[in-house]
Amino acid sequence: MTERDVLVIGGGPAGAAAAIVAAEAGARVTVFEKGLPGRDKICGDGLTPRAVAALDQLGVDLGDAHRIDGLRMVANRTVRQLDWPGIPPFPAHGAVWPRRRLDLRLMELADKAGAELRWEHEATPVLDGRRVVGVSANGQEWRGDLVVVAAGAPGAVARLLGAERDQREPFGLAIRTYAESPRHAERYLEACLTLRDESGTAVPGYGWIFPAGDGTVNIGVGALSTMRGFKKLNLNRLQDSYRSLVQESWGLGPDLERPRAWRLPMSTVRRHGPGWVAIGDAAGLVNPMNGEGIDYGLESGMLAAELFLEDPITVPVRYDRIIGERFDAFLRTGRRFSFLIGHPTLLRTGLRFAVGTQGIANVTLQVMGNLVDSSTPGVGGVTMRVADRLLGLADPVLRATRAAA
Ligand SMILES: Cc1cc2nc3c(=O)[nH]c(=O)nc-3n(C[C@H](O)[C@H](O)[C@H](O)COP(=O)(O)OP(=O)(O)OC[C@H]3O[C@@H](n4cnc5c(N)ncnc54)[C@H](O)[C@@H]3O)c2cc1C
Repeated sequence: MTERDVLVIGGGPAGAAAAIVAAEAGARVTVFEKGLPGRDKICGDGLTPRAVAALDQLGVDLGDAHRIDGLRMVANRTVRQLDWPGIPPFPAHGAVWPRRRLDLRLMELADKAGAELRWEHEATPVLDGRRVVGVSANGQEWRGDLVVVAAGAPGAVARLLGAERDQREPFGLAIRTYAESPRHAERYLEACLTLRDESGTAVPGYGWIFPAGDGTVNIGVGALSTMRGFKKLNLNRLQDSYRSLVQESWGLGPDLERPRAWRLPMSTVRRHGPGWVAIGDAAGLVNPMNGEGIDYGLESGMLAAELFLEDPITVPVRYDRIIGERFDAFLRTGRRFSFLIGHPTLLRTGLRFAVGTQGIANVTLQVMGNLVDSSTPGVGGVTMRVADRLLGLADPVLRATRAAA
């Protein structure tokens, strides 16, 4: 049996961020990743300014990423090209960084910081009563003061720890592929907010083209579970119909790989317990308003490691409290919002308003990107305060009248 300080299950952005911070400070860290180096993650590869700030904090050089200046919102015939606002502490730019390269870079940094990387190791928490005391993988056992669960959307590890998705809360599904495009070097993400399913029902979600700057674009669609008929929604067909919409304007070549779908967890019933914390997707930390989770993975990973360095014993309880203070209100508002836009009429009306003028569309971008909170001065902050309050009051009605079948 091997003794370590921190054992991290999962080598995505969340796990790597925790490992970098803990190892840099001298903790003995092992990361278990079931995939091989360079493994892919189904993702849009989009980094908001918030995610860029988190990468900066980790000391990651973004030279290999494609810089992005803003977002082009498309809603039927309305097109709004918006620059990232540059509201401190976030920079005025985002990026697109294909996950094969981003995740490998982060793991390389973890390695450089002194963490031990165990590729092709599928890890399982080891319990002593209710307390997680280590992990087992590939027939070996490791003991550690803290087990950081960074295993992505809940699966076997979450089931073992009772940390699954909260069934009462919404979640998302999204699909993506890559294609070559002459517009691959553009500096704006593009999002189409007016998707419809085969029966013509408005889909709460969006279709995206994210230029990667390497000859290719990432193209995909995502939908929230709050829509009527969600269980029957065929993501492949939704992807095909979005593709045909943008095929000509983006000069898209054939798909470079089969479109692949994955879950976007937006809640968890538990994100800590004796000896362990969950971070990133494993903690349900995905923004319901835009499906982004890389930033929350990085931030929660760094936080878990910082708290460990302060006091290894009390990490789980302090982590749960601080992560709650930082994200719970925003994510709760986002989930309530997703119930609201599950109703096609409200979605259509809301969208008309959200992109109605350039000024309102800018606020929509700030709110959706979690670049403002209710304490930020200006219209964005006021919007968050009002949305928090109103959606909170409407919560019981929203749940009782949810559109999803
Ligand atoms: C189609 C799609 C598009 C998206 N687009 C964006 C986007 O543009 N921007 C954005 O910010 N977010 C996006 N997201 C969300 C984003 O991909 C996730 O939020 C992010 O990957 C979460 O990082 P993580 O480190 O928590 O988990 P992951 O990236 O899922 O990493 C978890 C890792 O754990 C490993 N693992 C799992 N179980 C074990 C085990 N038992 N032992 C060892 N290893 C294990 C897995 O192999 C994996 O490498 C998208 C998601 C989808 C599905």
